Amino acid sequence: MTNRFEPIDSGVTPRFAGHSTFMRLPVVEEPRELDIAIVGVPWDGGTTNRPGPRHGPRQVREMSSLIKRVHSVTKISPYEIARIADAGDAPVNPIDLGQSLESIRAFFERIVDAGATPLAIGGDHLSSLPILRALGRKRAVGMVHFDAHSDTVDSYFGGLKYTHGTPFRRAIEEGLLDPRRTVQIGIRGSTYSADERDWPLAQGIRIITIEEFEEIGVDATIREARRVAGSGPTYVSFDIDALDPVFAPGTGTPEFAGLTSREVLRLLRGLRGLNLVGADVVEVSPPFDPSGATALAAANIAFEILCLLAESVAKRNG
Ligand code: MN
Ligand code: MN
Repeated sequence: MTNRFEPIDSGVTPRFAGHSTFMRLPVVEEPRELDIAIVGVPWDGGTTNRPGPRHGPRQVREMSSLIKRVHSVTKISPYEIARIADAGDAPVNPIDLGQSLESIRAFFERIVDAGATPLAIGGDHLSSLPILRALGRKRAVGMVHFDAHSDTVDSYFGGLKYTHGTPFRRAIEEGLLDPRRTVQIGIRGSTYSADERDWPLAQGIRIITIEEFEEIGVDATIREARRVAGSGPTYVSFDIDALDPVFAPGTGTPEFAGLTSREVLRLLRGLRGLNLVGADVVEVSPPFDPSGATALAAANIAFEILCLLAESVAKRNG
């Protein structure tokens, strides 16, 4: 393997100095040089209530300067087993939703076609749709989805089909996402209608509500997620509002009584060995995150997922 990339040496350049990039990695915009491309999606054109995730990538880059190289439990450095860099931001137009969906898709298609695995930092959750259009166009992917919300609403505001509450309904309709290989973890809170969860359940999505999670616990949730995802290509989508608002207040649609940071770490580490082909961490809204705690949570979650992706990539590369 040639041209592996590493975070800049914090023993030489202190963590508060230098350019702000994801995990202090170099910027490499040519995806053919990469196994994993970490990409910002500075876009919140799908947000229906409190905006701000367009500012997420910069804030997560900033807080990711706190993340060191080696995983605390596995002792693996992802940078030693895969070529990883900050591949910049997907191009967006903040006042043209349709154009942004297309430009984000094209950006990720270039990464996927080059054989690199994307890790996207959003952005609101509608960002997942153009990424899945790039990843799932030849074969539908499965998904492990952490969220307070199912994001399978049909439409908002008089029939509008593209919001951060609709991406996975569109992805299933378009054949990008296999609902029978999709598990949603942490779903909770009040809904617009009593039957809001009927559609995803009818498609075959496995929903583990926060109430069921409370009842069965972390280990059984991991077993269930692994059973549903199976051995096929699988995407991980992490909406930061899966976390309780105590841990992640800086998001547009906080929901009371969510997952704890420690539960999230255990759940993510339970996904080792799945065949992961891409991931995102979305819905960090810096205007609602004055302490930076939400972006710090997102940076840590992104590192956990990066380690999972690196192991998947290393396994595929033999
Ligand atoms: Mn959500
Ligand atoms: Mn969501």
